[in-house]
Amino acid sequence: KKVLFSGMQATGNLTLGNYLGALKNWVTLSDEYECFYSVVDMHSITVRQDPATLRKRARALLTLYIAAGLDPEKNCIYYQSHVSGHAELAWILNCFTYMGELNRMTQFKDKAAKHADNINAGLFTYPVLMAADILLYQADVVPVGIDQMQHLEITRDIAERFNNIYGDVFTIPEAYVGKVGAKIMSLQDPERKMSKSDENPNASIYLMDDMDTIMRKCKRAVTDSEAQILYRDEQPGVKNLINIYSACTGKTPDEVVKEFDGKGYGDFKMAVGESVCAVLKPLQDEAARLEKDKAYIDGIIKANAEKAGYFANKTLRKVQKKIGFPERI
Ligand code: ATP
Ligand code: MG
Repeated sequence: KKVLFSGMQATGNLTLGNYLGALKNWVTLSDEYECFYSVVDMHSITVRQDPATLRKRARALLTLYIAAGLDPEKNCIYYQSHVSGHAELAWILNCFTYMGELNRMTQFKDKAAKHADNINAGLFTYPVLMAADILLYQADVVPVGIDQMQHLEITRDIAERFNNIYGDVFTIPEAYVGKVGAKIMSLQDPERKMSKSDENPNASIYLMDDMDTIMRKCKRAVTDSEAQILYRDEQPGVKNLINIYSACTGKTPDEVVKEFDGKGYGDFKMAVGESVCAVLKPLQDEAARLEKDKAYIDGIIKANAEKAGYFANKTLRKVQKKIGFPERI
């Protein structure tokens, strides 16, 4: 079986974009690949976090992976910070990454502008830790949203550079971008992506929003004055709502356009809201149920950290040997 790695940060509340763009695809891929799904809490501390909140969110995220349908017996669901190999490989890869390469990363520029009071070295070398996450498991594919493509490119460059010096150590990973939901846009500004760090709460549907809130946000979604439901770039707000409806119902954008032919935006927005509720309600119920089962989740955390650690160590030992670290006696 080919290997798949992906992860999400335990920062902020997950949005419908994270679900439709990432988590939902993970579930469909989990039969085909040997999957590692990490809660990347080490990435989270590149921005200052409240310890109690971080711990709570990390656990909620791990539980959500399972609630979304990832079977923790088949998929390795674990905390990044529980497998020390991530940090160890990241250090080594730091020595094979150029400052100039990292300087070109647009996410660093965005985040540095946003957190001007804390532009730490971790924020700068974030892509190197992400490269370590992926290469540690010899991942063949990495499902990510379009916004993470630049980081996957640098991962490939670092891996190729290392392989050129030391022989075939790392598998060169490919990106996997899903067809529907690849990029869900903000409800308030459909030119920008929906993001969990958006300051405007009406811009995003959060996975834990209650049903009334979801309906209200959909009703208030920014559209246009064209008064026609068509799937085209000239109507980005409507297009985004069609994408959301399409991803939540499994209908194609063409079918959606036919379904709402001659209908008004009000009716359409109601239908979009209902389709989102129909997807999120069962997810929320399942997450709530799992959260109560402490012993079950604890068991998964322990078993999967060991499993991930086993695979991580295999790669790490190989790398350490190649670069000339003394053998363990
Ligand atoms: P932040 O603003 O803190 O970066 P984020 O919403 O971008 O938060 P990440 O943790 O960076 O979330 O990304 C988690 C996963 O969700 C990644 O695979 C990313 O590509 C995907 N993703 C994020 N936003 C969207 C979106 N609007 N549409 C589709 N996929 C998305
Ligand atoms: Mg992001």
